Amino acid sequence: MTSPDARNLQSRLLRLLPSVDEIVTRLKNDGANGSSDTALSDAVRKAIGIKRQLLLEQTNPGLPDATENASLCEQTLRDIVLDEAKQILSSNKQLGLKKVINATGIVLHTNLGRAPLSDAARSALNDVAQGYSNLEFDLNLGQRGSRGSDVESLLCRLTGAEAALVVNNNAAAVMFAIHTMANAAEVIVSRGELVEIGGSFRIPDIMRQSGAKLVETGTTNKTRISDYRNAITQDTALLLKAHTSNYRIIGFTEEASRGELSELGRETGIPTMEDLGSGSLLHTDGLPHEPTVTESIQAGIDVVTFSGDKLLGGPQAGIVVGKAVWVEKMKKHPLMRILRLDKLALAALEATLRAYLDPDAARTQIPTLQMLSTTREKLKKQAESLMNLMGENACSVLGARVEETSGMVGGGAMPLAELDSFAVTLSPQNSSAESLETRLRNATPPVVARIHEDKVILDLRCIREDEMNQLAVILNEFAK
Ligand SMILES: *Cc1c(COP(=O)(O)O)cnc(C)c1O
Repeated sequence: MTSPDARNLQSRLLRLLPSVDEIVTRLKNDGANGSSDTALSDAVRKAIGIKRQLLLEQTNPGLPDATENASLCEQTLRDIVLDEAKQILSSNKQLGLKKVINATGIVLHTNLGRAPLSDAARSALNDVAQGYSNLEFDLNLGQRGSRGSDVESLLCRLTGAEAALVVNNNAAAVMFAIHTMANAAEVIVSRGELVEIGGSFRIPDIMRQSGAKLVETGTTNKTRISDYRNAITQDTALLLKAHTSNYRIIGFTEEASRGELSELGRETGIPTMEDLGSGSLLHTDGLPHEPTVTESIQAGIDVVTFSGDKLLGGPQAGIVVGKAVWVEKMKKHPLMRILRLDKLALAALEATLRAYLDPDAARTQIPTLQMLSTTREKLKKQAESLMNLMGENACSVLGARVEETSGMVGGGAMPLAELDSFAVTLSPQNSSAESLETRLRNATPPVVARIHEDKVILDLRCIREDEMNQLAVILNEFAK
């Protein structure tokens, strides 16, 4: 908006915006019960702010003429702000933690709660939530039983490990395992594997908190088995391998294999551990190879840890599988009580793991695996059907188009893998991409999208069938 006329109109409109007090009074007259005065004026301020931003961006705000018919224009603006304030107040009454539509195309988005659960997992969780359960009760013997025993035997069956145990998350699993195996002793780690995941999980810090002493070996790009051997002293208690989940070292690189490491461990009597991060149980077609848990166990690693809510596609959990001597030691440790998994997560985890007994079933039933393997053709069709649901008018007002895009696995997994995808992109006629993105984020349910080259990108990969209609309704509302 550059012409003097347009600027003139804009400042006239801005002056016609209602005052906070005026709208607060209207809200009270309309019976806005249950909100404090502060909540009312906060909502009104926010509503005025949104309208002001839109007026600054719009070349054609679609209002009555501000010169000829100033009072009608003022009244219209007052109604619009009032409506917006009512919407803000009603969304303020919703729960703070709520469902959102993930239009980012990032499947394991840590900020958006990582893996969505399968139908079976949700139903198991619901059953256990509703009433009582045999959480720590043995129904065969009619006496106290052990929490998580079903999940543990499933894990052994699926990975070939001798023993298993579950805790609150993988960070807890790593720290607990190191603490149990190497408290007050030395742990050898390759310099190429000193990974940081999401800010607060850093191998050197976890090591310090576990009470172990980190001994770095090798170099950033090359660490050979001889480097581990040379770093061993009489204080060495553990040889640790950490999966470089969220980065890759490429070029001239070398790392000791799991087999070599476990061989060295057996020869010297020092246990080995691997933090796998994501811990896939299956290979995913079309994606880079991630080491599976079974591969690690078969290579002879003593203790393997991984997350429940990354590629596995279950609830937040930390999973430990490996040699019974170590797992039993952990189970008897006082920290176990502090780190134990709650019954809801346990129910969801068991149902998720059960699906893996039949790999084909797992691929179709577990949302994470499904989303990762959705084809480009299918995503393109979904993008087209979203445009259809929006209708011609909304598509034209919002400048909607079907375009190719690329997403990511997320959750610190497969950092180099780009997921070819399709998106509906929006370049609205009547507002900026930024304010459309803000309005989407504040919709009910909120829609999380990203902006690229001045367009709002709605990647279809993580949008469920039943969310398509909701999304279309929201977009239609914005096009009015
Ligand atoms: C993700 C990850 C963790 C942390 O797991 P959480 O389940 O988020 O606690 C630890 N180590 C590696 C290598 C990871 O990728």
